[in-house]
Amino acid sequence: MSDCFILLSAGKSNRFKSKINKQFITYKNRPLFEHSLKVAQSSKLFKRILIVSNKKIKKLNNKNINIIKGGKERHNSTQNALLFLKNKKIKNVFIHDAARPNLSVKLLKKLKNNLKRYKAVVPYLNSENSVKYKSNKKINNLNREKILLTQTPQCFNFNELFNLYKNNKEKITDEASLYLNKNKKIKFILGDKNNFKITTVDDLKYLKSETYYGIGFDVHRLIKNKKLFLGGVKIPFHSGLKGHSDGDVILHAIIDGLLGAMRKSDIGTLFPSNSSRFKNIRSKNMLMPVVKLLKDNNFYINNIDINLICEYPKVSKIRKKVIKSISSLLSLNKSLINLKGKTVEKLGIIGKEQAIACEVICSLSR
Ligand code: ZN
Repeated sequence: MSDCFILLSAGKSNRFKSKINKQFITYKNRPLFEHSLKVAQSSKLFKRILIVSNKKIKKLNNKNINIIKGGKERHNSTQNALLFLKNKKIKNVFIHDAARPNLSVKLLKKLKNNLKRYKAVVPYLNSENSVKYKSNKKINNLNREKILLTQTPQCFNFNELFNLYKNNKEKITDEASLYLNKNKKIKFILGDKNNFKITTVDDLKYLKSETYYGIGFDVHRLIKNKKLFLGGVKIPFHSGLKGHSDGDVILHAIIDGLLGAMRKSDIGTLFPSNSSRFKNIRSKNMLMPVVKLLKDNNFYINNIDINLICEYPKVSKIRKKVIKSISSLLSLNKSLINLKGKTVEKLGIIGKEQAIACEVICSLSR
């Protein structure tokens, strides 16, 4: 028996007023639904994840993730998901709206803990606004302390929810409504304010974040009998770059660019060249602590633009390979990385093929 995370990503976005379904709107560089997906995966609470979508999603190379088609309304999509999971030995389901991209592992764990004692657990927030209620043209005051604004994921014992859904004919906007309609008990726990729902295009405007830029530059001398590494990949060439490490000018310039945008000093501070600990280190391994810094400080990369300054190797010959490597090292979409080549009219040591230089600009947001 295991738990399943159901990600509802099939909404028609009636309130969103955009040509693209909101689940596929880019938020922090990724489609909206991918944010919750990543959080569910990193929580390690789920043996199975089920995405319900009406749009084709690129196959995710993971046997624990299934993708099925949604229904016309939200409750039809949930129903499709529950039918798909029948006989798959599911203990609990966590049903989550893809329009809430800021789900946290902490909230998932809190929900999971409560499922040990309750068959239905739903997160809520109190209203921060005063609330009125309209009935028969009269508007009444409501005590906001008694108002519960429900969030997702809403979590249920699979069998119980399956049976309730089986007999349900009414249109419901969330599973908690179904439980309440059937007079079933729900354990409400305090949710997370950051776990808000993106409902309109305006919501995305409010979410616009600060942007920072960082510049990086590096140059290394070329020497015989050394392998050449650029952007983390080996490039066939007559010489390699001299240096304490593998001399990868592209990765060094990227590291400085990223550190610059984060305002975290420079590569030399992070990896002192007088320290034998970093001797012959592959530059890939120097990039990893910087990627961790990005993550720990909630930064994400908007784009990276690179100028590789050399006569040879020709950038057009290595562009694809280098971008692919940087993309995988930074977990950054290839379309956000640009690599340009620049020769120097055979001038100076770069022109004489005795050195390669690189400059980079990085844009980050958080
Ligand atoms: Zn360097």
